[in-house]
Amino acid sequence: MRVVFGAGRVAELPAEAERLGLERLVVLATPGRAEEVKLVSALLGHRVAGRFEDARPHVPASVVQAACEAAGRLGADGCVAIGGGSVIGLGKAAARQTGLPVIAIPTTYSGSEMTPIWGITEDGVKRTGRDLRVLPRSVVYDPELTVRLPPRVSGLSGLNALAHAMEALYAPDATPVTALMAEEGVRALAAALPVLVDEPSDLPARTLALHGSWLCGLCLGQTTMSLHHKLCHVLGGTFDLPHAEAHSILMPYVAAFNLPAAPAADAAMSRALGVSEAAPELARLGALAGAAPSLGELGLSEGDLDEVVRQVFSQPYANPRRLRPEEVRGLLLAALKGTLAS
Ligand code: NAD
Repeated sequence: MRVVFGAGRVAELPAEAERLGLERLVVLATPGRAEEVKLVSALLGHRVAGRFEDARPHVPASVVQAACEAAGRLGADGCVAIGGGSVIGLGKAAARQTGLPVIAIPTTYSGSEMTPIWGITEDGVKRTGRDLRVLPRSVVYDPELTVRLPPRVSGLSGLNALAHAMEALYAPDATPVTALMAEEGVRALAAALPVLVDEPSDLPARTLALHGSWLCGLCLGQTTMSLHHKLCHVLGGTFDLPHAEAHSILMPYVAAFNLPAAPAADAAMSRALGVSEAAPELARLGALAGAAPSLGELGLSEGDLDEVVRQVFSQPYANPRRLRPEEVRGLLLAALKGTLAS
């Protein structure tokens, strides 16, 4: 993967396409991103074979199928995914199915562009896996493309990225390098997000936030995630809760639950956030970003919790604190009600 980073550097997109030998690109986007699609199309000129602007959250299998069929009809030799984790996820799922290389231009902070993780949702279940074929060949981070990102999307997708770093800090396969990346990623995002909520067009803060999300995405790609990501995966895939907001609401609860069992991760989080205790600060950042105060407000009900617990315990995975179903249910119940006490 090659990374191009900096204000105005989206202008180098044609050179990236040329380097990869791509002549017939499909521009992928979520609905409503006409301006970004127009900009990319103008830059790429004759290299654009067509557009597919129907990417959806959680990468529904039907949308992947439609995008692959469109790419086939257009005789595409690659995709350019511009936008957030939803469209980058579509590009990755299409790459897995068709082998078409992806150029990613992230304009939120989800970090998906840095990972070989794909996800597809079908019949109410989100399947994910790792496959190097889905890793974008080129990533263009241009903070100027993010200045119109609404404060709430900035804050929530930034907290989604921060959660990758938190779990990387206590991952079973953490390394000294992932630990450095994670701590710096948390520091950068925690510094940038409050600025962006107040002043979305602050270019230095936009640059810092992309720097942080790049690092957090790398952490996600290079380590194994634990309880927090398993819970969010089920809440999004089966209960259709908005991904980044579910992360933002749940993270303080998981921090309070897991960090005492992972002292080095706990210390790194406190240093990076500039506080003595991570959980309340994560809750403060969530509220600042405009996250709902509880999972209940997102529509989850107490009757759903047993199914969440069942799915989360259906496959074993590492977690710094030993997991018991009744404790995980207790954590979820607290997040459902919005009472930060695990
Ligand atoms: P998203 O992609 O749905 O984007 C959120 C909103 O921001 C959308 O309405 C979008 O149109 C809007 N938006 C994007 N760019 C904009 C811009 N420049 N200006 C104005 N609005 C803009 O949400 P997200 O939080 O970026 O991504 C969430 C998805 O990413 C989830 O499906 C999650 O599972 C996935 N994800 C995957 C990985 C991975 O490694 N596979 C990692 C993190 C997240």
